[in-house]
Amino acid sequence: MSDLVYLNGEILPREKAKVSIEDRGFLFADGIYEVARCYSGKIFAWEGHYDRLCRGASSLRIPVPLKSDEMRRVAEDLLERNGNREAIVYIQLTRGAAPRAHYFEQGMEPTLVLFTREVPGPNPDLLKKGCQVISAVDNRWGLCYIKTTGLLPNTLAKQAAKEAGAFEALFVRDGFVTEGSSSNCFAVSDGVIRTYPLANILAGITREIVIELINSLGIPLREEAFTLEEFKGADEAFLSGTTTEIMPITGLDGHTFAGGRPGPITLRVAEAFQRRIDEVRNG
Ligand code: PMP
Repeated sequence: MSDLVYLNGEILPREKAKVSIEDRGFLFADGIYEVARCYSGKIFAWEGHYDRLCRGASSLRIPVPLKSDEMRRVAEDLLERNGNREAIVYIQLTRGAAPRAHYFEQGMEPTLVLFTREVPGPNPDLLKKGCQVISAVDNRWGLCYIKTTGLLPNTLAKQAAKEAGAFEALFVRDGFVTEGSSSNCFAVSDGVIRTYPLANILAGITREIVIELINSLGIPLREEAFTLEEFKGADEAFLSGTTTEIMPITGLDGHTFAGGRPGPITLRVAEAFQRRIDEVRNG
């Protein structure tokens, strides 16, 4: 199987793709990224990912060199030529390379990279039985809605989760549970689903799809903040994310939800999401 990548207009073998050591993505995390899922060789929720990339790029004043259909064609070309079926498409756009200085000049040539990789998908056992999560201090910066490559708080929180034998870390800011280190989170109490509002969190593409599915299932949903204590008191909880899909949470910091099994509302949402994936596979 070949391993071709895209770098600034060229399709190259991975080992031939080189980026300057003065690329601002490398020096300052001055760039953004996207991860899209691909099922049976087809990209899931492309427009959502592309639009979020453009919003982030515009916040950082980085031009996006390819239009949606052009970038999609590059991604599809890589998937096909690399023989990927169950995979991720990774996109990274940085401000580009320049002699190191904090400020940046206008008109820089951005660096655009795309690569694909076959992935096993979420652990089927965890999807069925649910996962453990821990809480972590949300010590990120104030612009978390931009999907920058500056992910240290996220990677450290995920590492803490891994070392605690958990799947994910949930960030807690001012007492409120905001989101996971690489996922959004939902809590269910008395038949009502709650998730943190779009206020300095990442607007997850999966979160958006899940909200649409919840609405079409007629389940009440509130986008409002809830405390860690309220979260622990919930009947059910789950995560959403591109690589996480819909993952039931059965334990938080040692506290067990709903008898340690995925709750019924979580399962309804997960089934609806699975149908959405199947539509892409069969479409
Ligand atoms: N929050 C954070 C901090 C993330 O990194 C991710 C993964 N991109 C998500 C939420 C979930 O977003 P999506 O559904 O777009 O993967």
